Amino acid sequence: LGPTVCVGEILVEIVATTVGDGFREAQPLIGPFASGAPAIFISQCGRLGGHTAMIGAVGADDFGRVNLERLKRDGVDISAISVDPDYPTGSAFVRYRKDGSRDFVYNIATSAAARFGWSDDVSNLIGRAGHLHVMGSALSVPSAREVIDKAFDIVKARGGTLSVDPNIRKELKLDDDTERRFARLVAAADLLLPSGEELERAAGVEGEANAVRRLFEIGVKEIVLKRGANGATYYGCDGERVDAPAFVVTEVDPTGAGDCFGGAYLTCRRLGMPVKDALTYAAAAGARNVTVIGPMEGAGTKEQLDAFIAATERRS
Ligand code: ADP
Repeated sequence: LGPTVCVGEILVEIVATTVGDGFREAQPLIGPFASGAPAIFISQCGRLGGHTAMIGAVGADDFGRVNLERLKRDGVDISAISVDPDYPTGSAFVRYRKDGSRDFVYNIATSAAARFGWSDDVSNLIGRAGHLHVMGSALSVPSAREVIDKAFDIVKARGGTLSVDPNIRKELKLDDDTERRFARLVAAADLLLPSGEELERAAGVEGEANAVRRLFEIGVKEIVLKRGANGATYYGCDGERVDAPAFVVTEVDPTGAGDCFGGAYLTCRRLGMPVKDALTYAAAAGARNVTVIGPMEGAGTKEQLDAFIAATERRS
């Protein structure tokens, strides 16, 4: 029916290579790496051979070129990514704390990533899109949420499908308007890809079973719950449940695992693979990506994921 389209922030990431509670201790920093959750997702889709496209913006600078070249190389249609002459490409600086948590310093609000809007290129692309993928994080950017809302109406009207990765921390309060838009998208999701407690946040009820039941009541068709190193679980609205154990790897950079997992799962399903096999590729994509520094540096092609699956043990 047409390409998988993802809308949202395109960034570069500069990453600390050692653990430390301040950027002065966490040295040296390396990068720039292509990044932004929607971009990581679509890159993994492209690497797996999916028909894909991205909507967003970069600045007319080297950081922008890092992203455009990367996405193009992965086979992503970049015709609806605009190059902003006035604002720089968005950026994020990441460090890893001693307690295992991460800290980000972002420049998004005053970057090209927060300034794109509806255009002829966007209109042409959405007019032929078969699937829209939405990241909750993109909804906090006003220009992105206008594009997402309009794109959603058009894609749904022509019989396309929708996937949503809530990607919103439980404690994050959205304003009422954004919360309403988020709820509308969740209810229309053919596939919901929450991670951990995002499931309960999206459902608005406590407890995994309650949340799953509630989401199916409001119209979600399938849910894949991501559980980090503990794997993932598929829930179908027909009552089917499939658990996907994680692969055993040494994690060096957790950024992008969920995006690679989601991109691989969706692409495999759109290419006609059954749930169980799609989950295996998704778990492999997530696990492979955490073994490499850089948010999407470990995203795998079909051949790379096949080799990873053959060589890597899975938890029982
Ligand atoms: P998110 O990045 O959205 O929070 P997760 O951290 O749950 O998502 O990661 C998504 C998937 O990637 C997991 O369900 C798992 O299959 C795989 N994964 C993530 N981290 C690891 C890890 N440390 N070891 C093995 N697999 C992992």
